[in-house]
Amino acid sequence: MNDLVSDQSKSKAKAHIDLIPLGRIDQLAVSIIAANLQAILGLNSDISKPRPDPDYALLPQRRQFDALKIIKELYRETHGAPFKLGVTALDICTPILTFVYGESQLGGKIALISLNRLQEGSPDLAYERAAKIGVHEVGHILGLEHCWEVRCLMHFSRNIEQLDSLPLQFCSACEFETTRRIRALDSE
Ligand SMILES: [Zn+2]
Ligand SMILES: [Zn+2]
Repeated sequence: MNDLVSDQSKSKAKAHIDLIPLGRIDQLAVSIIAANLQAILGLNSDISKPRPDPDYALLPQRRQFDALKIIKELYRETHGAPFKLGVTALDICTPILTFVYGESQLGGKIALISLNRLQEGSPDLAYERAAKIGVHEVGHILGLEHCWEVRCLMHFSRNIEQLDSLPLQFCSACEFETTRRIRALDSE
């Protein structure tokens, strides 16, 4: 993976994202997500220094963490890349969903993913799932909504089986759209 990550500096793309590890987290997972953001979206990815666990977002009764609060906190930062992707090992949820693999601001700047529910099966599979969720959530930041095409990374997954059945790539329509949006950012 180191090769893949260091190759990023050679890219001419200007569109940029900071990956922000929150709390104790598998650094290899973060590197793999960064490499896939680069390879699939052409987005330069920098890995920031790890931050503390987002204790402020704990929901004691649910024993989970409020994804929207964490996103709001990351949004308050004005320094760094225009896009940010938080990565946590904690279990995250929203007011309406019992859990989420990830959450993001549609057409915004911030996304968040959790590695918490990806660990079933082999480590390789867990890394692949992390990459899928990372690229999916960043797709939302770029303005893409869920796609009806089941062979597309922007298709919604409600469980691990559905997530595993998705390819680590976009359908041609979503691919076209992400390329168009990244190019628009690069020419700003
Ligand atoms: Zn989604
Ligand atoms: Zn699609």
